[in-house]
Amino acid sequence: MARKVTLIPGDGIGPEVTNAAVRCIEATGVKIEWEEVIAGQLALEQTGELLPVKALESIRRNKVALKGPIVTPVGTGFRSVNVAIRQALDLFACVRPAKTYPGTRSRYTGIDLVIFRENTEDLYAGIEFEKGAPETKKLISEIEAYSKKQIRPDSGISIKPISESATRRIAEFAFEYAIKNNRKKITAVHKANIMKFTDGLFLAVCRDVAKKYAGKIAFEDAIVDNMSMQLVLKPHNFDCLLLPNLYGDILSDLCAGLVGGLGMAPGANIGDDTAVFEAVHGSAPKYKGMNKVNPVAMILSGALMLKYIGEVKAGLALEEAVRDVLTEGKHVTYDLLATPNDPAAAGTKEMADAIIEKL
Ligand code: NAD
Repeated sequence: MARKVTLIPGDGIGPEVTNAAVRCIEATGVKIEWEEVIAGQLALEQTGELLPVKALESIRRNKVALKGPIVTPVGTGFRSVNVAIRQALDLFACVRPAKTYPGTRSRYTGIDLVIFRENTEDLYAGIEFEKGAPETKKLISEIEAYSKKQIRPDSGISIKPISESATRRIAEFAFEYAIKNNRKKITAVHKANIMKFTDGLFLAVCRDVAKKYAGKIAFEDAIVDNMSMQLVLKPHNFDCLLLPNLYGDILSDLCAGLVGGLGMAPGANIGDDTAVFEAVHGSAPKYKGMNKVNPVAMILSGALMLKYIGEVKAGLALEEAVRDVLTEGKHVTYDLLATPNDPAAAGTKEMADAIIEKL
């Protein structure tokens, strides 16, 4: 019987890359019944809602989704649909492998990192107070009274909650993943020297969880600014990174840059019994409808999905097919070539066709 999976094509380049991923997943022979739902700009136009209830219900029912990127306009009233999905379904673990493949243009070879980003709290909690609003003024005077520190009256405020319980579950998830996947070391990344009660708590809980795994998985920690430099200089010194939400977001893109760019970085958002698979990249609006961008991030997200639903052989075969096409370098998109305007660049669809040929 076919496995039901929710499919959200998303905005911008989303429909092109999800289409490529769906075709590749189907070419592995695994039977999937896609339940397509809309979210994002198209949903806003058709239903007046960015994240229709139908979309969330579909993911809740099927427990697995493949999702294209969805836009979040900067600095407007819109909250991110992507963050809303993760919070509504409590998909607390964001897992993002960053791996170099032969034939990919990147500064390094042999990189094999896994990022574990806490997905439900931190500055992404969406608790914000707008400059000048009456509740902001009230909040400022309360905080001033408690902290004995001044906040400028023309400030906006974003709240950064980090809890022991949410940190413990992402840390335990990361260590369990590390054990199951034969990884060696976890580095917790933080700014505990400055934010003692949030990042300090994150670090203390990670250290506590690490004790349970002593002798099996090595543990260390690093301050996020130093970590950013170390990753650029010596990425091979690291194995798994465990981070709160915001640093996880930023270092995910840094790590994507280490392995050939956003076109190469897949991801998964995983909860207790539900998971949404999506690339690290966004909707890249300037490339919308051009059949130009790299489908690999989304296809590799599909391979992660196959493994998650128990189709491990198919997931590995899909990764292998991607690897073969990248190694040959004949049917690859512009971002993988030395000059972006190289007329030999393959389109999104043609690169997916080449991957399907290898399956
Ligand atoms: P982006 O990731 O969409 O694109 C930045 C640049 O990266 C592109 O201009 C392109 O040069 C490159 N790029 C991205 N994907 C690529 C691919 N598959 N192949 C080749 N090159 C690729 O980031 P942005 O422009 O900052 O964001 C655009 C929109 O996407 C925003 O509204 C943002 O909020 C949203 N976004 C959504 C998600 C998500 O859905 N999970 C993630 C990040 C950003």
